Amino acid sequence: MKKIAFYGKGGIGKSTTAANVSAALSLQGKKVCQIGCDPKNDSTRLLLGHICKETVLDKVRTCEMDSIKAEDIVHTGFNGITCVEAGGPEPGVGCAGRGIIVALQLLDKLKAVPPVDVTLYDVLGDVVCGGFAMPIREEYAEEIYIISSGELMSLYAANNIAKGIKRFASRGSVRLAGIIGNSRNTPNEKELLEAFARKLNSRLVAFVPRDQIVNVAENQRQTVLQFAPESRQAEIYIKLAETIWNNTELSVPTPMEFEELEALATEYGKEP
Ligand code: ADP
Ligand code: MG
Repeated sequence: MKKIAFYGKGGIGKSTTAANVSAALSLQGKKVCQIGCDPKNDSTRLLLGHICKETVLDKVRTCEMDSIKAEDIVHTGFNGITCVEAGGPEPGVGCAGRGIIVALQLLDKLKAVPPVDVTLYDVLGDVVCGGFAMPIREEYAEEIYIISSGELMSLYAANNIAKGIKRFASRGSVRLAGIIGNSRNTPNEKELLEAFARKLNSRLVAFVPRDQIVNVAENQRQTVLQFAPESRQAEIYIKLAETIWNNTELSVPTPMEFEELEALATEYGKEP
């Protein structure tokens, strides 16, 4: 089984890209499970067609631990995709990272996820604290993709995530599998992301254009794969899913100092 994670800054497009890649992999005949590890718990919204109200942590909060059943926390979405949301704490109370640890351990204990070919963890990467690092630290995920645009703050988060991956790669099988560019139409964005990936000892596996079809599909609670399967954007997600499935170019990342990252942005981010 392939164990993949998508990390990146909040709002960068992890869940959208993850849901579209899951949909594409599933249409390519793979059995897929997507696990949302973000207190927003909207990772699987496009696959389920609604926001997931039964998150693992909601169940943990409201039920006796021993009474929780797999079917309470594991849901079926588009084309039979297994969908789970770890959930989060009540705003202002508790630690979101800690919640992810509890959720993943409970999934294990209950053997709640049926056998699949690919598990895709969709993880918030603004802070790589113990909890959000859990999927890589405990090797739930081995092939890590970082989603970034050409915006400096998104690259900054990506570089921090690479630092986390490097730490855990030294003692296990976790590797950086590539950078996924999700465009924000910044100057020379693709070239900047290619250079950024090279500096990290990795490569840009895809450059996903910013396209309103993504938002139109989202407003219909669907992935682009469902809403506009013949579109150019769908084709891009299909190609990305194939690349991810076949990817063997895994690396131990070489993260940068902030000044080096800044210099890269200065060099490439000039007016086109
Ligand atoms: P994250 O999971 O990283 O927090 P989301 O996947 O929820 O981010 O995306 C944030 C917003 O950006 C959503 O409204 C989504 O529809 C939009 N979005 C993501 N990728 C694209 C894209 N390639 N083109 C247009 N809109 C996008
Ligand atoms: Mg998300």
